[in-house]
Amino acid sequence: MTKNFPPLIIALDGPAASGKSTLGRSLADALGYLFFDTGVMYRAITWIALQHDMDLRDEMVITGLAQNAQIDIRPPSKDDGRACDVVIGDKDVTWDMRDGSVDANVSIISAYAGVRTALSEQQRRIGLRGKVVMVGRDIGTVVLPEADLKIYLDASAEERAKRRYHEIIARGDQADYDEILKKVIERDHIDSTRAVAPLRAADDALVIDSDKISAEQVLTQVIALCK
Ligand code: C5P
Repeated sequence: MTKNFPPLIIALDGPAASGKSTLGRSLADALGYLFFDTGVMYRAITWIALQHDMDLRDEMVITGLAQNAQIDIRPPSKDDGRACDVVIGDKDVTWDMRDGSVDANVSIISAYAGVRTALSEQQRRIGLRGKVVMVGRDIGTVVLPEADLKIYLDASAEERAKRRYHEIIARGDQADYDEILKKVIERDHIDSTRAVAPLRAADDALVIDSDKISAEQVLTQVIALCK
């Protein structure tokens, strides 16, 4: 299949806190494309389920929730580091969705086939419009296998935990590095061993290890591929 150049559909995958969102946002800004962080959808479903004391192990109930939930993703209303506003009902849950309880539970619900089908159909519809940088775990492998450019951004668990730790401290919250590292490793394990759409690099993805190069260097490298 012939791929478009410059790439119109860019898939950016990788494990938790590998710098995908930062890279994806900057890349989308530089190209004038839509930035779409699909993790937000899995987080929003988890947040709603926790709020309503739903049983996260009940696949049918959680799948029903994913099929019916009204998650509104809007341009950012505040300059506080957010890429977008995530609104459920009339509540802005942009940061609530990033808290420890969502981190600890999101991989349970994202392993459900029905949840993935419901969410990835919406993601695919948006992605096929083009001029998009879509970020997630399975964008290059499942959601948009026809993407013109696929990048898999990797980094060691220690480096990723360090970044997450600094992000939390910068927001003025408390953080425990060892606890974050443990959670990152747990989440990687569940995301990469699940039966449906496991986290992995597509065969035709460019794998970038961001351990030893700065976010700016990664961005420069990727922009060079797009222009
Ligand atoms: O990227 P982020 O850390 O916000 O994603 C939260 C969780 O959502 C991941 O740990 C993963 O379980 C799930 N996810 C997924 N597929 C995607 C995006 C996120 O399974 N495309």
